[in-house]
Amino acid sequence: MKISKVSVYQVGLPLHEGSYNWSGGKSVQVFDSTVVRIETDEGITGHGEVCPLGPVYLPAYAEGARAGIQVLAPALIGEDPTQLAKLNRHMDTTLKGHPYVKSALDMACWDILGQATGQPVCNLLGGRYGDEFLLYRAISQEAPEAMAGKVAGYRAEGYRKFQLKVGGDPETDIERIRAVSAELQRGDVLVADANTGWLMHQAARVVRAVKDIDVYIEQPCETFEECYSIRKLTDHPFVLDENIDGLPILLRANSMQAMDVVNIKISKFGGLTKARQARDLCVSLGIAMTIEDSWGGDIITAAISHLAHSTPTELLFSSTDFNSYVTVSIADGAPQRQDGKLTASTAPGLGITPKMDALGDAVFVTE
Ligand code: MG
Repeated sequence: MKISKVSVYQVGLPLHEGSYNWSGGKSVQVFDSTVVRIETDEGITGHGEVCPLGPVYLPAYAEGARAGIQVLAPALIGEDPTQLAKLNRHMDTTLKGHPYVKSALDMACWDILGQATGQPVCNLLGGRYGDEFLLYRAISQEAPEAMAGKVAGYRAEGYRKFQLKVGGDPETDIERIRAVSAELQRGDVLVADANTGWLMHQAARVVRAVKDIDVYIEQPCETFEECYSIRKLTDHPFVLDENIDGLPILLRANSMQAMDVVNIKISKFGGLTKARQARDLCVSLGIAMTIEDSWGGDIITAAISHLAHSTPTELLFSSTDFNSYVTVSIADGAPQRQDGKLTASTAPGLGITPKMDALGDAVFVTE
């Protein structure tokens, strides 16, 4: 099988809640998502999606995804999309770095491999564990009382894991954690995700001030070393996210016992092939994971569901259903949250069919 055509689409994804706010006053109102459609000489078509969390979350931005795909696409014409490791090596020798640029292309090739073999991607990634898997709900940064006020509604939607966006003024963040914690019921899990927003002295104040609260601390500071200094100060369960973007740092962090949970985002690692490699390593090392992406619509939610559902249940800390946060649906067949849980499709490939009217005209086509 050979890749014959690569088409790229841009789609805006507004939010039901109007905006999504996190550390340092960062905010997105409409996510800029990129969808890739790969056609083959055998008539099988696959789709992928990449959606950075704005331009200042990770070293990734929407226009950069499209610019990079435009560089890679000519090199993919004539390549076999079902030979994924080889295809990824080819992408890496064509464009050094920029893992997020490769994510949607790799995802679309997994969609093709699944359709070609009649298997859902979940099976190809190792096998399906259980009937469904658990989701977390991010609580966008607002005043402490407003964030606490969101918990009951999200719990009514079935969520039991709440990821609080902190990483702002430390005193307000302490109030945020206390206010939300007061709303928790037995069985709920609270994560305070600072998204790199605290300096070390600020993080040190927060973890000491919430010492009596059952809360996970996620990515308090900018660098791995800064986070590790806070890890040593606190006995809260500790999550690393932004700094864990490849196998070398994952292995180093593990050897230093620098975290209890890692967050694996598909595009941060460069696609399903590399995120799966990190996932499998974490399984072997006994590290629990949140499996998700930086953001996305129906196609990314489908891809997340296949990687999450093929992760041993006891090692999957949580996952995300981004398609329930946004107002625009870009594909049929994407998994839909039920009682705070998600199930990967059993259809071949990712199990989605893009809504071409929602995607509009291609931004560019390579054939
Ligand atoms: Mg995080």
